[in-house]
Amino acid sequence: MATHERLLTNKEREKRKLTTCNLCNHCNEEEETIEHILRKCKKAKSIWETFQNKESTVSRSLNFTDWLLHNIKCDETATEFGIICWQLWKQRNEEVMEGCAFMKESVTAKIKAWFNIVNQAQANQQKTAGFVPKKRTPCDVGWEPPEEGWIQLQSDGSFHAQSGKAAAGGLFRDHLGRCLGAYVCNFGRCSITAAELRGSLEGLRIAWKAGYRKIVLHSDSTTAINIIKHRNDDVHRHGSTARHLSFILDRQWEVRVSHVYREANYAADYLANKAHDFDFGTHHFNVCDRDLIRWINHDVMGISHERAIINMN
Ligand SMILES: [Zn+2]
Repeated sequence: MATHERLLTNKEREKRKLTTCNLCNHCNEEEETIEHILRKCKKAKSIWETFQNKESTVSRSLNFTDWLLHNIKCDETATEFGIICWQLWKQRNEEVMEGCAFMKESVTAKIKAWFNIVNQAQANQQKTAGFVPKKRTPCDVGWEPPEEGWIQLQSDGSFHAQSGKAAAGGLFRDHLGRCLGAYVCNFGRCSITAAELRGSLEGLRIAWKAGYRKIVLHSDSTTAINIIKHRNDDVHRHGSTARHLSFILDRQWEVRVSHVYREANYAADYLANKAHDFDFGTHHFNVCDRDLIRWINHDVMGISHERAIINMN
């Protein structure tokens, strides 16, 4: 993501007309690109000075992309290098979100704490003979806008274990992150997967009626995504909903379906929880409440959250 300029830095946000100032929050001197945040900014430089041995010496003369790739592939320091970059990016987000000033000592302390966690995990791994846990890499996850011309349908389900009741919610967003409408569904007693599927179906129905013809459906439920993607209408329990989904996907429109992490789907998560307060059935609205606006702004600011992602290799 960093090498493809897909992170929402101030420069990227300015391009998408989300801000009028592209300057770095730390130094206010240069435009905020990902290279600036991780490498060029004087604040970043002060951190690299502290952790000189975590960046390969030969890489210092390389351009940004090669510098990143070289260090990430370097066996001895890849993990530590990754932690430093990740903390620099995280620090920038905390500043945007919470106004925390960049304190070299505190950033350094956080980085050292992560080094310890990773070392400890590796030591434990070596102790547990015969059992090799999957490696987890700390990673930052945040909302990403759809391409221009596409509408993103963020959908999510919610289940209250005590009452056995489930609900769903979702919203439609354009490439600038603006909310074009939202909906909530209260399903009464049903399973979480059924709620996820029925919530996505309701979203697609509303999208079709609204005349959207290019949709990217986002859900954080892998089970629901698999059922929708593979069109297996014989999935016993969800047969009827799965069939309806299959019918609607066959209409004359383009629908892409993809899994996102919960951290990239907070606005829909908020609506799904809110849906329990509504009467049975589906309700849609064009005006966002204050909390939804807060989540939409949170996404558009490019704020991301840490998550340990399992390495597949
Ligand atoms: Zn700067």
